[in-house]
Amino acid sequence: MPELPEVETVRRQLEPLVTGRRIVEAWGHPSAKFASAPLAAGPTIDAVGRRGKYLLLGLDDGRELIVHLGMTGQLRLRAAGDLDPYVRAWWGLEGGRVLELRDVRRFGRVGVVAAGEYTSLPTLAAQGPEPWDPALDDGGLWRRLRRSSVPVKTQLLSQRPIAGVGNIYADESLWQAGVHPARRSVTRAEAEQGIANGGTTLRDYRTVDGESGRNQLELGCYGRAGEPCLRCGTELRRSVIGARGTTHCPTCQRRR
Ligand SMILES: [Zn+2]
Repeated sequence: MPELPEVETVRRQLEPLVTGRRIVEAWGHPSAKFASAPLAAGPTIDAVGRRGKYLLLGLDDGRELIVHLGMTGQLRLRAAGDLDPYVRAWWGLEGGRVLELRDVRRFGRVGVVAAGEYTSLPTLAAQGPEPWDPALDDGGLWRRLRRSSVPVKTQLLSQRPIAGVGNIYADESLWQAGVHPARRSVTRAEAEQGIANGGTTLRDYRTVDGESGRNQLELGCYGRAGEPCLRCGTELRRSVIGARGTTHCPTCQRRR
């Protein structure tokens, strides 16, 4: 699943290639997630933005083309030609190139809305601050996380406390904070010391290529179930929380 740095990398790569290009034709797979893609035909792309893990392509008629890559989505520009069967939507640009969304597992989605009107995309509408937003400082993150009706891991993945947190950053930041992923409350110190490190990690990787940034990231917990905890040596345990595979250290991460 793309994490925020990879989505930001896609945004940066697309921006110079599609800005100023008119969308001359478009197609979307008839399923509800992609069917609105053709509504973007006509105007010119005038900006390529991002909010959390959503790409927001500004259109010069006051609307936005929104693309979420889901688990397996790839947004890429190619020369006109044959479509592969996993392309769920495409937009033909003036000049002949085609912007296409290829998505094998179809967890992605597309929307075309009036700029800033996200009621039809509730997860986008509910995005918390970006990781480098000063609103997260001075207890802001703790106030967003302190009490929840769902496990803290699920709360992090909801994008409401911080925009852009995926499974990797959620597991890593909870491990760093010593917080069991199934807990429903965190202390201010835990939020500030540990979970904020996840935000710092995201912030730092904003400046590098997403793929290599992720490869360079030293993972202490995510994906290491069955291996010893780097802090205490206990075998890291895998569980499922909110339908998502989760790794944690039963010694370091207190259930309280
Ligand atoms: Zn441990």
